[in-house]
Amino acid sequence: MGAEAGGFSTRQVHVGSDAVPATPRALPIHLTAGFTFSDFEEAAAHFGAGDGFGYTRTGNPTVSAVESKLASLEGGAEALLVASGQAAVSVVILGLVSSGGHIVSSTHIYEGTRGLLLDNFSRLGIEVDFVDDIGDPDAWRAAIRPETRLLLAESIANARNDVLDVAAIAQVADEHGIPLVVDNTFATPYLLRPIEHGAAIVVHSASKFLAGQGAVLGGVIVDDGRFDAARAGDLFPQLTAPTRTGDPAPWERHGGRARIAYLRETVAPRFGPTPSPLTAFLIGQGIETLSLRVERQSANALAVARWLESRPEVASVDHAGLPSHPSYDTARRYLEGGYGSVFAVTLHGGLAAARAAVNTFEVITHMTHLGDVRSLVLHPASTSHTQRTEAEQRALGVHPGTLRLSIGIEALDDLLADLTRALEAAAAARSVESAGAGA
Ligand SMILES: *Cc1c(COP(=O)(O)O)cnc(C)c1O
Repeated sequence: MGAEAGGFSTRQVHVGSDAVPATPRALPIHLTAGFTFSDFEEAAAHFGAGDGFGYTRTGNPTVSAVESKLASLEGGAEALLVASGQAAVSVVILGLVSSGGHIVSSTHIYEGTRGLLLDNFSRLGIEVDFVDDIGDPDAWRAAIRPETRLLLAESIANARNDVLDVAAIAQVADEHGIPLVVDNTFATPYLLRPIEHGAAIVVHSASKFLAGQGAVLGGVIVDDGRFDAARAGDLFPQLTAPTRTGDPAPWERHGGRARIAYLRETVAPRFGPTPSPLTAFLIGQGIETLSLRVERQSANALAVARWLESRPEVASVDHAGLPSHPSYDTARRYLEGGYGSVFAVTLHGGLAAARAAVNTFEVITHMTHLGDVRSLVLHPASTSHTQRTEAEQRALGVHPGTLRLSIGIEALDDLLADLTRALEAAAAARSVESAGAGA
C-alpha cells in the first residue's frame, strides 16, 4: 500500500512489507510466520491438497530449499528439517513407534538419544533393547520382537569410533519389514551415505558438521522413499490405513514416500519442533562448504591420531582410520575420502593426566560440541558419560584418562604444538600424582 495512506498504526504494519521482486544469489531467508494467499481458491487448495506455503510450522521456502539439498546429498528421496538433532530422532520415533512398541538400538549412541529412549519414550510405553556387538547381525536379530518397529544405530559411534556395517544391519531390518535408522552425524553424507547401503532413514544433528561453525542447532530426517506397504503388512497402520477423517492412507497418497510424508504432515507440525528459517539459512550456508571442511578435518584428525599413537604419554587412540582399530576394515569399506574428525585418546595417568591436559589447551577449545571448524576437546567420564556406571563407561571405551577430540581445520603444526604442551602437562601431573600417592 502507498506510503501516505492510512493512519500511523495501519502504515506501521502495511507500508514496506512487500519487498521489490528481485533474484538474490544467496538463498532468501523467508523469516515469516506465514504466507499470504493471493485468492480464495489458493487458500482452499493449500488446506485441501497441501499446495504451496501457508504457515511456517507446516512449510517454508527457505527450509524447503535446505531440505532438498540434504535429500540430494544423502541420496534420499526427501528430507525434513527440524529444530535439533534430538528433535529429528524424536520425530522419527513418534511417527513410527506407538505405545506398546519396541526399538532395538545400538548401545554405542549419543547419550542424549539414550536418555530419550530410557527416560522419555519408556514413559510412553515404548521399550528399548540395546545391542553391544553392533557388528554381529545375529545380535540384532536376537533382540527383535514382534513389536519392534525400528533399528537405530550411528554410522560412526562415540566414543569408541565403531563404524556400522550398514548393509548387514539394514538387511536384518529388511527381513522384518522395519526400517534401519542411522544417525549419520559423525560421518556426514560426504564420507558415508547410509541409504546407498540399504538404510531406510538417516538422521543428523545439523548442529555439528552440517552447520559447521557451532552457531546454530538443527536436525534433519532423510528418507529413502522406498516404503513398501505390502512388505510392512500391518506394522504401520498410520501409514497404510485410511486417516481418522477417512482420507486415503499416506501410502495411497504418497506411495514409497509415505513415511516421510506422514512425519511432515502429521508428526513434526503437531509436536512442533519447527526450525527457524534463519537457522535453515545458516545450515544451508554451512553445507555449501561441507566437503572442503570434512576433507580437511578428516586429514588433520588422521594425522593427529597417528601422531598421538606414537607418543609415550598415550595409552590408546580410538580412531577408525588406524590399523589398530577393530573397525578399520569396516571403515575402509564404507568411508570415502576420510574417517571423520571425532575420536578418543586415552592418556596414561587417568583423571589427573586428563585434567592437566584439558586445562593446558590453548588452540583446542574445551566445550561440549563437535564437528566445528575449530578443534574441540571434552573429558567424557566427567561430562557426557557421567550418568553411566564405571563398568558401562569402560565398555564404551570411556576411561578416566580418555579425552574426546573433534579436530577442526586449523594448521596441523599448531594443533600438534598445542597437543605437545598438553601431553607434557599430563605427564607432569601424572608424576606428581604417583609421588603424592607414595608410589
Ligand atoms: C549432538 C548429537 C545429537 C543431538 O543433536 P542436537 O542437535 O544437539 O539436538 C544426536 N546424535 C549425535 C550423534 C550427536 O552428536
